Formats: sequence, structure tokens, C-alpha cells
Amino acid sequence: MNIILLGPPGAGKGTQAVRLSELYSIPHISTGDIFRENLKQGTELGVKAKEYMDKGLLVPDQVVIDIVADRLSREDCDGGFILDGFPRTIAQADALGDVLAARGLALDHVLNFSVPDEVLVRRISGRRTCSRCDRNYHVEFDPPEVEGRCDSCGGELYQRDDDKEEAVRRRLEEYREKTEPLIQYYQERGLLVDIDGDRPMEEVMASIRRVLG
Ligand code: AMP
Repeated sequence: MNIILLGPPGAGKGTQAVRLSELYSIPHISTGDIFRENLKQGTELGVKAKEYMDKGLLVPDQVVIDIVADRLSREDCDGGFILDGFPRTIAQADALGDVLAARGLALDHVLNFSVPDEVLVRRISGRRTCSRCDRNYHVEFDPPEVEGRCDSCGGELYQRDDDKEEAVRRRLEEYREKTEPLIQYYQERGLLVDIDGDRPMEEVMASIRRVLG
């Protein structure tokens, strides 16, 4: 099953992707996680991506496309994959189409998460991320058992620089301008399924499962 999770930052794509990945035993590919992982390891890619990420801007298309093309060529993607946070522009979507077509693959579904702006801002500003395993929490809606510590690995929780107010505003603008056109793009290709993301996690998961079967 080859799936894309589309939607603005804070829509719950990452949370659902982690669970879907376990449920269907297919890899969760988050370009944001790949950049953050590179940054943690101090690679050139991580340092370059950070310049854009901290400002809430998109990383240039070609950088992201090369990373995803490489990731999709790995064996663990043979049985399917969940793309979370990619594609984010029409150019990325076109490139993804080419990469898949070259390997005789196609997308099965594009799940489009919609959530009102004020809810997105509330979700993102309360989000805390594990510095070790990248698991996300929310100070109000999904707090860890011990404040500031990850339930899974005990790592320290932090607030991503791009989850701070100014960057969040830019990220939402970038989304409206560059990513939202993908809704029509995938609608025209008959792949889009709308998911109301403004509901409890379990309900969102149940509607996704009804789509994926
Ligand atoms: P995310 O964790 O998906 O919210 O991504 C965090 C940041 O990484 C974004 O705000 C962008 O700066 C960068 N990023 C992640 N995915 C992409 C992408 N597909 N295209 C461009 N930039 C991206």
C-alpha cells in the first residue's frame, strides 16, 4: 500500500503515520524527521535544512526529492510506504510520480487531513518532541507520564524551533501557498480522500482504516 498523508502542520499526520506503519508493517517516511535526524548527527544536509526549517520555510525541492527518491529505492519500501510531509509542492509531486512510474509503482491513496487554523496553532504550540526518538507529545492533550521525559525511551522533550509562534505562522503560509494546490492535483488524479482531522485520534484512525481496508 503506497500512501501519502497530506495536510497542514499540526494536522496529526505524524501521529497517524506512526500507528499506520505498525499496523500495516510498512515504513513511515517523514522528510521532516529525516532532516531533524541529519541535524542531530551534524551532517551537511542537516545544517543546510536547518536554515530553512527554523524560519518555517520549505527546503528547496531538489534537495528533498533526491532524499525521498533514495529512501524509496530501499528494499523495505517494496511492500508499500507512508509518506508524511512529502510531497509539499507540485514539483515534488511530479518528481514522485516519475520515481514511482520508473519502478512500475503507483500511489493508492492520498489522505488529506483538514483541521481549522486555530486548532492547528493550539496543537503545534503545545507540541513537545523527544530529543532521542522523535516521539511527539502535547502538554495539554497528550502529556508524558513524567513531565519533560519521553514515555518510550526516557529522552528529554523539547520544543522544536519551528514550533515557535513566528515560524508556525510562516509554515502555515507556506502550506497555503505551495502545498494546498496538491489537493486539487490529487483530486484530478482520483486519489484524494478527505479526512476530518479535528477529532480524537482514535476516531481519525477509524476513518482512515475504513478507507484503507
Ligand atoms: P515537518 O516535520 O513535516 O513539519 O517538517 C519540518 C520542516 O522540514 C518543514 O517546515 C520544512 O522546512 C522541512 N520539510 C519537511 N518536508 C519537506 C518537504 N517535502 N519539502 C520542503 N521542506 C520540507
